[in-house]
Formats: sequence, C-alpha cells, structure tokens
Amino acid sequence: MSWRTKSNLAWLREQPGVKEDEALASRTSFGIGGPADFLVELARAEAIEKAIDGCASRDIPYFLLGAGTNLLIADRGVEGLVVRVVNREHEIAGTRVRAAAGLKMMRLARIAADANLRGFEFAIGVPGTVGGAIYQNAGCWGKEIREVLVEVEGYMAGTGKQTWNAAALKLGYRTSALRDGALQGGLVLSATVHLARGDGEEARQMMAKLTRERNETQPIKTKNCGSVFKNPPGDSAGRLVQAAGLKGAREGAAVISTLHGNFIVNEGGAKASDVLRLIERVMAEVKRRFGIQIEPEVEMVGRWK
Ligand SMILES: Cc1cc2nc3c(=O)[nH]c(=O)nc-3n(C[C@H](O)[C@H](O)[C@H](O)COP(=O)(O)OP(=O)(O)OC[C@H]3O[C@@H](n4cnc5c(N)ncnc54)[C@H](O)[C@@H]3O)c2cc1C
Repeated sequence: MSWRTKSNLAWLREQPGVKEDEALASRTSFGIGGPADFLVELARAEAIEKAIDGCASRDIPYFLLGAGTNLLIADRGVEGLVVRVVNREHEIAGTRVRAAAGLKMMRLARIAADANLRGFEFAIGVPGTVGGAIYQNAGCWGKEIREVLVEVEGYMAGTGKQTWNAAALKLGYRTSALRDGALQGGLVLSATVHLARGDGEEARQMMAKLTRERNETQPIKTKNCGSVFKNPPGDSAGRLVQAAGLKGAREGAAVISTLHGNFIVNEGGAKASDVLRLIERVMAEVKRRFGIQIEPEVEMVGRWK
C-alpha cells in the first residue's frame, strides 16, 4: 500500500517549515535531479528525531540530506520526506572536538586549526557535512575520519538515542553500517573526534597547499559529485577511466572530466539519466578492457525505477 494516504499527507503538510514538491538539484553539488515530495530543514536535534520518528511510525519514507555532495538524485525526485540536517554547533574540550552533523567538514578543519589542533587537515578536501562524512567514512590524502573518531551520537527511529564508535559503525573504505549494514536509516546527530595539540599556522599552511594541489588536478569548481567510482583494491578508478580512453566521454550534458577521469561534470542541464548512462558505460568498458569491476562511490537516491 502506498504511504500517500490522506492522513499521512495531512501530517506532512502540518510539519513546521515543510515545503512540498521542493527542488533538490540546487541543494546538491551536481545540480541534478528532481524535487523532494516534501522537504524540511531542521537544526534542533529533537526536531530531527521527531520528524524521522513520525515518518517511521507512519511508513513514510524519509531521507537525510547533508550538503548533497555525494548524491545523484533521480530525475523523478525523492519520495516522502527529505530532512536536511543543518545543526552546526561545535564544542572543544582539550584535544576533543564534538561537532554537530550539519557542520561542514571544511569548516571544522579551519575551526580545529584555529584552536591549534592538528590531525583534521585532511577534511579540507571533503566538501560535505560531518554527518555525511560518518555515513561513508570520508577521507582524503590517505586519511579517513575513522582514524580520529571517538564516538558518534546517533538516533534510530523507534529505538532512540545511541552511541556508536568506529567498530559499531563498521567504518571501512567509503562504507559504514549506516550505508551498507545494520544501522541503515540511522541518524548521525554529532561526532566527537580526538586531535593533537600543535601549531595552527602550520595546519593552515598545509591545508592551503593541499587545496592548491587539488585545484590543479581536479575540476573542483565545476558541478560534480566528487569521485564517481570507488578505487578498486591496489588501483585508481581515475587511472582506469583514463586508460580506457574515456576522458571527455559524454552523455547529454554529463561529461567525464578531461582533468580527472574519476569526475563527471554537469556542464549545465544534465539529467540524472545522462549521468547513469555514462556511469554504466564506464563500468562496462573498464570491465571489458581490464576485467576489473568498478563500483560507484556516488549514491543514487530517489525514484529510479
Ligand atoms: C568536489 C568534491 C570533492 C570531494 N572529495 C571527497 C574526498 O576527498 N573524500 C571523500 O570521502 N569524499 C569526497 N567528496 C564526496 C562528499 O563530500 C563526501 O562523501 C561527504 O562525506 C558527503 O557529505 P554530505 O553532507 O554532502 O552528504 P550527502 O551527499 O548530503 O549525503 C550522502 C549520504 O550521507 C547521508 N547523511 C547525510 N547526513 C547524515 C546524517 N546526519 N545522518 C545520517 N546520514 C546522513 C545521506 O542520507 C546520504 O545517504 C567530494 C565531493 C565533491 C563535490
């Protein structure tokens, strides 16, 4: 039975701040995809918990949206309620930093440096939020968030507040129990990381250097979703795409970057279906030429069927 009953729609419409049939493309770094049936932006933990509890108890599908930097949203949009998590506070106690899920990783990297804390510089390369970073154990320049993670304050609809460490979260290469395991549907409210005392100026210089290098090798200023494919063991997806002669390959307005083979750029007006065709083409060609099955890192969300 569809969740779109009269009483469910009435409940959704009475949620404070909710918008119906609301554009999502502009809330993603790819700039692609259809609308959310309903969208609400929430900053207070209790409000987010209440929204997902309300959906779960009514069988209304919900989706937690961070900064939208790892998503390919279907052209036909996303079913149910999209909850954009925008809690952004942080607290520093000695070398520990607790950051709310909606805080951007890049912002947290600067906050840590300004507090003379080292070990979070890698996050200057991750444009998403803390919640999104936990969801798939984001990492950059050889370092991942699990290496500095103390614990996550989480929430499961129906069950309530929980505390998860890296082992409970099963953090692995671009995966977690939130993405692929027993904690699916779970909400990250905040994460605590432990860092080391150090020189903030050195941290800032390191981040500036990493950013400069990145700007030269990746199409950072375009509409994209970061790495489209996970690197297969011992190899790089970007290298394989390049070796398959696919740089510059196109479907509609979706193009494989000529700067870096693991980026697809939306030149303007690309459809999610264009991007999907390009992804499938790359996977098939890399498999045909090298016998390697590469998998998407970007998450496909919404009404694909
Ligand atoms: C230019 C560019 C460069 C990038 N470089 C890197 C990189 O170097 N390393 C890397 O790891 N990634 C990189 N990414 C990808 C992206 O930034 C990360 O995957 C990031 O962690 C996604 O966070 P987000 O807030 O944007 O999540 P979204 O894209 O909004 O969502 C991704 C998933 O996280 C879930 N989620 C979001 N918030 C929560 C929450 N509070 N609780 C539970 N689940 C939640 C969503 O439901 C969704 O399933 C890059 C992206 C871009 C555009």
